Amino acid sequence: MALRMTYVDGEFRETDLATVSVEDRAFQFGDGVYEVVRICRGRLFAWQRHLERLRRSSRKILLDLAAVEQEMTQVVRQLIDKSGVESGQVYIQISRGQSWRNHAFPRPGVKPTLIVTVSELPMRTWEDFEKAESAVIATDDRWLHCDIKSTSLLPNVLAREKAVSEGAQEAIFARDDRIVTEGSASNVFMVSRGVIYTHPDGPLILPGITKELTKMLIRRLGIPFEESPFTVAELRDADEVFITGTGHDVCPILEVDHQSIGDGKPGDVTRMLNQEFRKLYEHENFEII
Ligand code: PMP
Repeated sequence: MALRMTYVDGEFRETDLATVSVEDRAFQFGDGVYEVVRICRGRLFAWQRHLERLRRSSRKILLDLAAVEQEMTQVVRQLIDKSGVESGQVYIQISRGQSWRNHAFPRPGVKPTLIVTVSELPMRTWEDFEKAESAVIATDDRWLHCDIKSTSLLPNVLAREKAVSEGAQEAIFARDDRIVTEGSASNVFMVSRGVIYTHPDGPLILPGITKELTKMLIRRLGIPFEESPFTVAELRDADEVFITGTGHDVCPILEVDHQSIGDGKPGDVTRMLNQEFRKLYEHENFEII
């Protein structure tokens, strides 16, 4: 089994043995925020960007990240060192703390709960990515704050389960069953007649760090790009579809709702962006990329 280690309540434990209180706000209400960060050669990929997004998410739900931020930044590195994980991911969760069950915020002085988990996740090669990944369309009936990386993920869970039950790997959300927003845990891009499209940032999607870096690569390569909404019909008709996310990198989607995209093989644009993205892992200073 892959190596997994967790920090909670001031202690480092094997993940299977780590526990939180039944009165933790994330457990009771999904009242927390989180981040998932890639570990590459024992270091944190795009760490500054993840930290900024965590600060933004915390601010938006009025959660006092400052109370645990210093502890968090130290623990993340300690946990990577202790686990010895070279290639993997860090999961960071901060809830509004532990308090008797009441919807309103706990009284002042209740400290947020910090959980950090490190687990192994091998880097993938292009041959791994070439293996067919497929998606299904799911109704996007989420709230209007999808830009917050909140631990309340029930709609994402239901959508992903729909995908898995239909033999697919990812669910692609569509607002009003028409406009493609994002995946259950990824951002969605399509290539149509030489132009790359993706949904603009805003309240309807999570501003993915991988999306941000992919945009940077697209600009660098000079490929025509439009950050504007597109429909499910346009997605089905696209030449290429790919998703981006921590752990997914830039990943081709070869089928949507059991129908091939383009010629059913990973396209040239996707392959190029996948290769360029994986080159970022070789950067000297990728923590502040
Ligand atoms: N959208 C959603 C809903 C997600 O859960 C994720 C994964 N965290 C993403 C997009 C991709 O974000 P990132 O590239 O920062 O992992």
